[in-house]
Amino acid sequence: MTAVIHIQSEEGVPSVRASDSDLATTPCPLCNATVSSIIHAFDPFKVVSCSECGMIYLNPRLKEELIDPLYREDTYFSRSKDTGYEDYGFQEQSLRMTFRRFLSELNRRGITGGRLLEVGCGYGYFLEEAKDFFPSLAGTELSEKAGMLAKQRTGADIFIGDVEALPADFREFDTVVLINVIEHIYAPVSFLSVLAKRLKKSGTIVLATPDIGSFWHRIMKSNWPSFKIPEHIAFYNERTLTSLLEKSGFRNIYQIPFPHAFPLGLIFSKVRVNAPVSFRRRPVWLPKTMIALSGKVL
Ligand SMILES: [Zn+2]
Repeated sequence: MTAVIHIQSEEGVPSVRASDSDLATTPCPLCNATVSSIIHAFDPFKVVSCSECGMIYLNPRLKEELIDPLYREDTYFSRSKDTGYEDYGFQEQSLRMTFRRFLSELNRRGITGGRLLEVGCGYGYFLEEAKDFFPSLAGTELSEKAGMLAKQRTGADIFIGDVEALPADFREFDTVVLINVIEHIYAPVSFLSVLAKRLKKSGTIVLATPDIGSFWHRIMKSNWPSFKIPEHIAFYNERTLTSLLEKSGFRNIYQIPFPHAFPLGLIFSKVRVNAPVSFRRRPVWLPKTMIALSGKVL
């Protein structure tokens, strides 16, 4: 791949330099309908709403073969071009707090114990926090550097690559967790169907993703922080995420609270205010930024 893609942030609005040949139009990733209406424009990309099912998605979007190398880059979790607030390491303390709280919600619902697979495990913060709740840990990651760090940190079995290429022994999981992953996935029904086959009978999948149905999107409109264009290509609410799970073969779908802590410096940067240096890493809980659902494979 030779296309050079510049991700930049001017006045808070994400924009990408991409030529027409880098773009692909798509039917609705949830129901395959082709009629939609534009709700936000991030030239040359558009966020549209499906006229059939209401799914909100990016169309046109970057061709999948162009976005894939981005995730495999060593720098994906530590972008030098950003202000540093988006840096995964900068957010470590807030992420760990977020994951601990979410794990206690899973535990309360009996979704812990046995074999855990985390898809898109990054540096392994969630897996490390999950050690107390699952005796067996595994993860997948596209970035080799991040995956290796996760392995060192947790001792988990880490597979570097796509879920379609998972090794044969990555199977019979009790729980598969995807946090901030599904919004990146181009063909989500087939992706989740692949994962369903790796679960035990009555195993549970857990999806957590930014909630476009929340008041944050209604207030912030095109400045909603989860419009990370071009990486985020699907924007779910409770209804469309439930529909995705059903279409992928999951039943007994329940919502799980997912309060999210963010460093104060990151929150301030979204409203273009500099936080005092000594407070920048301080975690602050924000309600309703995420939607999380569990579903069972029968
Ligand atoms: Zn649709």
